[in-house]
Amino acid sequence: MNVRICELCMKSNVLCSGCEEKLKRGKISELDVKISRLLYKMKDKYNLENADFTKAIDLGRVVLVLTHKDVGLLIGREGKVVSEISQAVGKKVRIAEMGGDIKKTIADVVAPAKILGINKIYKSGGYVYKVRFSRREIKQLPVDINTLEKALKSLLESEVMMVFE
Ligand SMILES: [Zn+2]
Repeated sequence: MNVRICELCMKSNVLCSGCEEKLKRGKISELDVKISRLLYKMKDKYNLENADFTKAIDLGRVVLVLTHKDVGLLIGREGKVVSEISQAVGKKVRIAEMGGDIKKTIADVVAPAKILGINKIYKSGGYVYKVRFSRREIKQLPVDINTLEKALKSLLESEVMMVFE
């Protein structure tokens, strides 16, 4: 099981100096700590041995939980894992897969809004992802455009521009 804090910290209620330092530097968040410990507690009940929790992003009404593995592991049978996470954080939780297909990751994050297309535009010093939607999908976005853009930036570690046409 791969989470944001070390095994010692998963089991205890205090953070070791290493994890405390990561929290102070903003490498991990309180939310990451909370979800990591929760997953550890749920590990045996839901077979989370192979689960990966990369990080959580708080979008306000919704918390985005990112994984480098199959999203199914963190959703759980009949959605039981995701619903326990949701109860613990007191918000809706959305699980998204990172690191594989960028288009799928973005689709997971913006659902139920549907994407028209994604263009990777190269510019000096890097690139920007232009995520295109039909104008009528605005209503379907899980949170507001600004928050979503920020989340996608942090997720893709790159500039992101959402365009409605
Ligand atoms: Zn630790």
